[in-house]
Amino acid sequence: MSDVLIRNCHVLQTREAGVEILSDQDVLVRGNAIETVQATGRADASQFRRVIDARGMLAMPGLINTHAHVPMVLFRGLAEDVTIEKWFNDYIWPLESNLQAEDVYWGTLLGLAEMIEAGVTSVADHYFHMDRVAEAVEKAGARALLGWAIFGSQGEAAIEMTADFVRGYKGAANGRIRAWMAPHAPYTCDDEFLRASVRKAKELGVGIHIHVSETMGQTEMSLQRRGMTPVQVIEQVGILDVPTILAHVCGALPEDIEILSRYPTGIAHAPKTYLKLAMGTAPVLAFREACIPVGLATDGAVSNNTLDIWEALRLMALTQKNGAGTPEAMPVAQALTIATRESARVFGLPNELGAIAPGYLADLILVDLGGVHHQPMHNIAASLVYNARASDVQTVLVDGKVIMQDRQLLTINKAEVLDNVRAGMERLAQRLPERRIQVYNT
Ligand SMILES: [Zn+2]
Repeated sequence: MSDVLIRNCHVLQTREAGVEILSDQDVLVRGNAIETVQATGRADASQFRRVIDARGMLAMPGLINTHAHVPMVLFRGLAEDVTIEKWFNDYIWPLESNLQAEDVYWGTLLGLAEMIEAGVTSVADHYFHMDRVAEAVEKAGARALLGWAIFGSQGEAAIEMTADFVRGYKGAANGRIRAWMAPHAPYTCDDEFLRASVRKAKELGVGIHIHVSETMGQTEMSLQRRGMTPVQVIEQVGILDVPTILAHVCGALPEDIEILSRYPTGIAHAPKTYLKLAMGTAPVLAFREACIPVGLATDGAVSNNTLDIWEALRLMALTQKNGAGTPEAMPVAQALTIATRESARVFGLPNELGAIAPGYLADLILVDLGGVHHQPMHNIAASLVYNARASDVQTVLVDGKVIMQDRQLLTINKAEVLDNVRAGMERLAQRLPERRIQVYNT
């Protein structure tokens, strides 16, 4: 007996060569995997534990957020219209240094609720108190690759502590949770610290999630100070010898792209953050030409304001067209390949996620195509890139389990999360009187 029958839907098929929409399909799920995709009407509904009527909907792989700081949803709206230096020094550091583990737990659940409602089933998160983040991910039923962010100033003990975290959560929650090492960035970690992180990653058999060349300014600064770009630094210290997620790389020079093309790396691309902080953007088209996988990302909600991968998808396509000076750049199929298969590669699960095909993990979403903003429907693929809204996502499965059905979250009690988030922020406001943090009732 199979577990879930999703009946009568369109299915987004992603292949290296492009995308295809199949209509009148059933998707059969057994355990935590996709069993098959077949023409509708052939399966006997009485043989399934759960039958979902998906008429008018599209089944597609769950979206993957390849770089986030999920608990930062707690601070969204608190650092608007400021330079990146002010943003870090005057806002983020004082807020984060006053954050408590309990806040991180509730903030993660809030961010997960937002992501699941938007069809984001996997997240590569990079933050602190990651044991509490893992607890929230386990409860929410989502999939995550967790990195406990550390800085060179914290010394060797921090590397040991995060290595223990990695060891403890390897394959946790039926494999939904994986953990990698996560030194913050080459400009906040010295070379010896980065080398020690690599040794630990190799010993544990895991990868490294790190910020690199976030802006061209960082690249120029690194060249001035050390005669090397940040990409050259991470190559020299051995980071590129293990699987990596490199966040941003907006400041990539042509020689950096050549280096990256020789290693098993992936780039997390968060265009809304880049636009909002006036950082320029990353050379996604050049990365792709060099066969470097690119995945979609939101970064933290203080620079992005949402954890909505649909926005990232749309903004990536628009900014790459605009940057290339031609509407022919970044066609719909390429944008959707990045949102699905490529993001899965960056996330480190290229043969498990990013496609609805037999043997892949059953992380999938049903998107309602009936809204007036999709009508009349001539081109489903284009509608996904340019018209779809997070609220079009109706139903979400992760690891074969339904965690949202008909827009009802089944694993997260939103009222409880919001009460705890507000209470936590009121306590934070008392710890930081000079910040004048106000929490509105909405
Ligand atoms: Zn980041």
